[in-house]
Amino acid sequence: MIHNFNAGPSHLPAAVVEEAAEAIRDFQHSGLSLLEISHRGPYFLPVIEEARELARELMGLEEDFEVLFLHGGGRTQFMQTAMNLLDSDREAAYVDTGTWASKAIEEARLFGNVRVIASSADKQYSYIPKGFAIPEQAAYLHLTTNNTIYGTQWHDIPDCAAPLVADMSSDILSRAIDFNRFGLIYAGAQKNIGAAGVTLVAVRKSILGKIHRAIPSMMDYRIHIKNESIYNTPPVFAIYTCLLVLRWLKAQGGVSAVEKVNTRKATLLYREIDENPLFQGTAAVEDRSQMNVCFVMNDKVLEKEFAEFCAKEGMYGIKGHRSVGGFRVSLYNAVTEESTQAMVDAMKHFAGVKA
Ligand code: PMP
Repeated sequence: MIHNFNAGPSHLPAAVVEEAAEAIRDFQHSGLSLLEISHRGPYFLPVIEEARELARELMGLEEDFEVLFLHGGGRTQFMQTAMNLLDSDREAAYVDTGTWASKAIEEARLFGNVRVIASSADKQYSYIPKGFAIPEQAAYLHLTTNNTIYGTQWHDIPDCAAPLVADMSSDILSRAIDFNRFGLIYAGAQKNIGAAGVTLVAVRKSILGKIHRAIPSMMDYRIHIKNESIYNTPPVFAIYTCLLVLRWLKAQGGVSAVEKVNTRKATLLYREIDENPLFQGTAAVEDRSQMNVCFVMNDKVLEKEFAEFCAKEGMYGIKGHRSVGGFRVSLYNAVTEESTQAMVDAMKHFAGVKA
């Protein structure tokens, strides 16, 4: 049996994969594949409508929000957010909590002034900065709510007068936070909500249209809102997969229910890391991510052997990001408690052999 702990694209519920595969063969008994129908026709329109509605419902979003499914992944949002929200003579505040936050900062600088108000670069991004001041005049404050590479997560979202813009690519819909505290939320689908190729954006209409630059139409959120997310041909397969995952999530009992499971999985694995003398967690304990559990071995020499042992046991995708090394076990919504237990058992077993 394979236990898939990939950081993204990552594990999907088995029933979702089955249903997506069937939709490619024969979509809703139409005799047509999902891949060969019009995105404006009667088969696909209800798909995108239901996906947008379900995302809104599961996040509990207020009326002012619009939900979009856009192309281009998380990285396109690094520029698109700034292009839509930051005038060239204004300043946006960013917190640098790792590689993805840094890249968002770089892209935003192309459009206006960026002030990095806090950073955890001094300790290899192993913690979430706290107690920093947020400039009152900021056009917005950008946070990366979960740092996929370093395994840190914001557990307390700071209060802020300016709109909060959040990259939730690696923890969207994994915990019950108040999504209405944000002005704009974006997340590449390929971790918690579906297949690669689409990005969920939830944006408050009231924060748009306040800047002076001309925005290319494909980059303008208002145009996508007006066209109900089908301004151009959307990635139909990826959106359909999102719909299946969102339905699955609702059937699990929604965000609060999966949060409980996610907490149990993370607690189980972190406990093993803390108790097993071979391993050491890399993130500050109070900032540990429930989604990406990062650790190293106290004896680096053993890492190759442990990786090989895990591969034989069916553990897949646990290598740490190439920039940091060690191990990273991603516990997104679809990863089961059984898989998490299997990972813990492998760690225990390996320690037993080495004792
Ligand atoms: N933000 C975060 C937090 C991520 O983890 C990633 C990718 N792992 C990205 C952005 C970039 O996403 P994409 O590859 O979809 O552009």
